Amino acid sequence: MAVGILALQGAFAEHAAVLDKLGVSHFEIRQKRDLDQPMNGLIIPGGESTVMNKLLRELDLYDTLREQIQNGLPVFGTCAGLILLAKQIDGGIPCFSVMDIRVKRNAYGRQLGSFFTDDRFGGSERIPMTFIRAPYIESVGNNVEVLSIVDSNIVAAQQDNMLVTAFHPELDMDLTVHQHFIRMVEQFRLKNAG
Ligand code: GLN
Repeated sequence: MAVGILALQGAFAEHAAVLDKLGVSHFEIRQKRDLDQPMNGLIIPGGESTVMNKLLRELDLYDTLREQIQNGLPVFGTCAGLILLAKQIDGGIPCFSVMDIRVKRNAYGRQLGSFFTDDRFGGSERIPMTFIRAPYIESVGNNVEVLSIVDSNIVAAQQDNMLVTAFHPELDMDLTVHQHFIRMVEQFRLKNAG
């Protein structure tokens, strides 16, 4: 099993370190030929969504990745990754436009650009949550499950094969969110093998 981590820009190395802790193989996606190998899951890290959107198209990664996500490839987007998956962006242009969420970018304003808290993720105990110039989800479609709410704002959600967090679980010690994603990856792999 191998998880591809989009490594054009942003916090990709931190996700790789978490996957190492979980004993999950991974590879970096920097150019089109990186997509020639089998991929059981995809992580889109935090960073700057406008830059990643531009690079995805320039490097001709966009169509292949979008098709794979639409065909059920498990994908985990953190922060900028969440923005790239959203169908609607308040005042912005969608990228992959695959997940039924409406997102507000840089939603916490200048003062609260970055902050730390802890709260529940799905049915979990409270987990650490680091927010960095984070978006939040303003609204979700019927088919989207809300997994975390902080200060009345949705900050984690899942729709079928797509998992997103506005916070950065790769920057904290807690493995809950990545473990959840790896379960999605395992289920997808078993389904395809069967
Ligand atoms: N504000 C960034 C954006 O709009 C996201 C920040 C992050 O990924 N930490 O792309």
